[in-house]
Parts: sequence; C-alpha cells; structure tokens
Amino acid sequence: MKNDPSNAAPGSLEAVRRFVDTHDIYNGRDALADVESATACLVAEGLLGKGRPMTAHDLSVLRDLRVALREMAAANTMGEQPPHEAVDAFNDLTAPHALSVRLDTGHGSVAASLQPREDGVGGVVAALAAAVHEAVLMGTWTRLKSCDNPECRWLFYDESRSRTARWCSMRGCGSMVKARRYRDRQRGRAADAL
Ligand SMILES: [Zn+2]
Repeated sequence: MKNDPSNAAPGSLEAVRRFVDTHDIYNGRDALADVESATACLVAEGLLGKGRPMTAHDLSVLRDLRVALREMAAANTMGEQPPHEAVDAFNDLTAPHALSVRLDTGHGSVAASLQPREDGVGGVVAALAAAVHEAVLMGTWTRLKSCDNPECRWLFYDESRSRTARWCSMRGCGSMVKARRYRDRQRGRAADAL
C-alpha cells in the first residue's frame, strides 16, 4: 500500500480510504485477494479484532462494498452524483449490520458517534458505513476521490481549496495522463496530415 501522507483523509474517513486502497490497481496488488490475506490486512488496519473467522461470503461482501465505495469516490472526482447502482449496493451491503449511538463527554462538550454492534466482518462493514455517514454530515465525503488515471484509481483526499483535484499526485498520474493526451493529439494530427 502506498503511504503518501498527502493522500490522507481526516478522522474516520481515512479508514474508508485505506480500505478501498487495499486494491492497489496500479501495482496489481490486492490485500483482499483471499480470506487469509484479507483477515491479516483488516487486523493490521485495526478494523478487525479476533473472533469469528472470515468466510468466503464475508470476503465477497467486503469486495463488493469496496467496489461501491470506489465508484462513489469516482463520482466525487467528476463532481457528479454517485451512480444509483453504487448507492444501492452500499445500502444493501451495510443494512444488515447494526450501529448504536454513543455519547462521550470531555473538553466541556458532548461528542456523538456511531459504534458497530457486532464483532467480525459485520462490525467492519458497520464501522465503514458509520465513517461514510460522518463524512457526509461533516461535508468531507465529496473530497474523497478516486484518481482519474484509469490505470490507477487510487483513493485520495482532495485538500485543494478549489476541490477540483483529479489525480492522486500531479507529478505522477496527472503528468502521465496529460502526456498521454498530448501524444494522442499529436498522433491524431499526424493521421490527419496523411
Ligand atoms: Zn493516480
């Protein structure tokens, strides 16, 4: 997993970003490739505790949720509404897993958060759903984006004032995509000249 600190999202949204980026498309690596590696990855991320072992069904839920989250983030990149299929998939995959409201006091104020009611993968799904919920309320959700380089699609947090960042890194993917478009245009001109 790349660990560019400039990609990091604030608060619990960072767990969502890191979860989706368990599929590193550019480098062809998938930490959720099988039950064993997925368990190890989620434990290392602090999302999954010890308990019921992950099943093949659990893994398919996680992978489907990851696809839905990436599609919604890709819509954020384009400043568009998320596709209905992705929203429906998110709702269907997260609905079975309960959350409860938790209040905490400190620093003279009350903080409220949603806490998973389950252990295991159900709790992971619920925690990710809670993080998305919080980000939507905080207005940070639309800054979570998927890199517009189709070979990359890395999730990053857009901290730009204009909220118009499209690539995980301008020096990397941004310049790669621009160079490719330039080459394509030159090729087009060369073909027109024939
Ligand atoms: Zn990228």
